[in-house]
Amino acid sequence: MKPASLILFFVISFLPTAFGGAFEPGARWDQNEVRVCWLDSAEFTKNPDLLDDSLYFNENRLFHSAELSDVIEKKINAEFTPEKTGIHFTGFEKCRIPAQGGRPDADAVLALESVDSFDEIIEGGTSIGMSVIDLFRGEIMRRDPEEDAGLPSLVIQIPSEKIYSSKSIGYHEAISLTALHEFGHLAGLHHEHSAYRDEALRDPYCASSPFADDLKKGPDQAFSLVPKKYIENLYELKGAVRSGYDSKSIMNYCHTRNLFALGGKIGLSAGDRSLLKSVYPE
Ligand SMILES: [Zn+2]
Repeated sequence: MKPASLILFFVISFLPTAFGGAFEPGARWDQNEVRVCWLDSAEFTKNPDLLDDSLYFNENRLFHSAELSDVIEKKINAEFTPEKTGIHFTGFEKCRIPAQGGRPDADAVLALESVDSFDEIIEGGTSIGMSVIDLFRGEIMRRDPEEDAGLPSLVIQIPSEKIYSSKSIGYHEAISLTALHEFGHLAGLHHEHSAYRDEALRDPYCASSPFADDLKKGPDQAFSLVPKKYIENLYELKGAVRSGYDSKSIMNYCHTRNLFALGGKIGLSAGDRSLLKSVYPE
């Protein structure tokens, strides 16, 4: 065991039992304060290596919005605090990149992407904390800043207000919901429903959701062609630290879909907060 994972194991083994979540140990930030900045299409065009290249997005549709970045910053600052989660996010200015090929004065980059449709759940893509997913080797690995030009990245897709609000939830709430989920990934959290498939299927939120079939099916047929290690690491999340299924986790699609349909408090669950606080003690 490396020293970092030993410390994590020590912390995890002395936690109270009632909470939930799944954390990727290789994704853990060394510090509790993660500085972020906003990147738009113009800066991206000048510095295309900055965003994590495993994320899918349309580079021509990255935009800056003072209004939406303000909504997101306020929500993230209210929910991720030194007291509640240990890890918290600061900065939220536009990325200032000193020279081509240079790095902004930030630990992670954020972007807004304008999209034309949405899939009723969550709209975005994010690096899992400090990790990179190596799709060739089928591994979730710790990012090596010496080798990797990209910074941990978070792209929030923004559909139009007309389609990204419901009877129960307004436009800014829908965007806040997406942002909280994506910042959860940036803190190092995995999807709750992926980390606890069996438990999720017993959860009424999930059993009636469009993902129930996916949860039952197991790995896609395409996975049969790849090494077993790939399935264990990327599908079964073998290396994740687990502390129990949390049906109200912001990382649980079944819950976030339910919030979109029926409304409710848009925030981190008690389980999300206690897992993060245990991983990022003050
Ligand atoms: Zn997600």
